[in-house]
Amino acid sequence: MPEGPEIRRAADRIGKALVGRTVVDGRWPFPTLSDKTHLLLNQEVIEVTSKGKAMLIRLDNGWTMYSHNQLYGRWTVHLNTTAVNSKRSLRAEFITERHAVRLWSATDIVLLPTHEEGGHPFLAKLGPDVLDDTVTESALTDRLAGPSCYRKKAATLMLDQRAFAGLGNYLRSEILHEAGVHPDDRPCDLSHETVVAWGQAIKRITVRAYETGGVTVPASTAEQSKARGEPRRRWRHAVFCRDERPCLTCGDLVLRKRYAGRRLDFCPTCQPPRRLTS
Ligand SMILES: [Zn+2]
Repeated sequence: MPEGPEIRRAADRIGKALVGRTVVDGRWPFPTLSDKTHLLLNQEVIEVTSKGKAMLIRLDNGWTMYSHNQLYGRWTVHLNTTAVNSKRSLRAEFITERHAVRLWSATDIVLLPTHEEGGHPFLAKLGPDVLDDTVTESALTDRLAGPSCYRKKAATLMLDQRAFAGLGNYLRSEILHEAGVHPDDRPCDLSHETVVAWGQAIKRITVRAYETGGVTVPASTAEQSKARGEPRRRWRHAVFCRDERPCLTCGDLVLRKRYAGRRLDFCPTCQPPRRLTS
């Protein structure tokens, strides 16, 4: 599933085509939109943004189209003169004077008043969006140390959208390695310094992935891994998809564990368990 950085990059791409433009044509065959075409047509798009893994397209008439791609949804952006053949089901289409923006296959789409976005069942439960400029490293540290997170396992916290919106599987492994946190540890098991490092890593790694298109290591590290002939899925990360290989930091073997069926890669030396009781 795409994670927050991928959704935000998609929002940027869609925003470039739509923001400040009027929707001159389109199709909205999805049941929750099909009788609301009048709210979409001839409206100017004023903002396209993401919240966690949800996409929000805001219109100047005070309505917002909310969508969540789950595993299968897909956005495309073309010039409106380009013929597009797809076997996917069209869910929403926005045609401007120049572009055609389409959403395919997604099944979680609603139109709601912009001022009621916060009451949407998914958005209402979301924790702070890590990519939001107003969400600082220290706010993330405070959240880790706060009552909603303090006694929860790192492996669980780093996928819980109610704790931190936008994180997902590859970010989980990369953030915990960067911070030196064992996946079974909880914030309450750690020193204050480690919790601070964890808060910093949540912001730094997620922003880096957004800026680079999914690369979580510094450019120099990626270049060294590429020079060894590693494939992209491996050179772009420090531990994720690098199980059974030497840790780039310490040389110990990276291990893979599964938590609720989802893989987590970590280094037992860089991320020693600190939990005193189990
Ligand atoms: Zn290591």
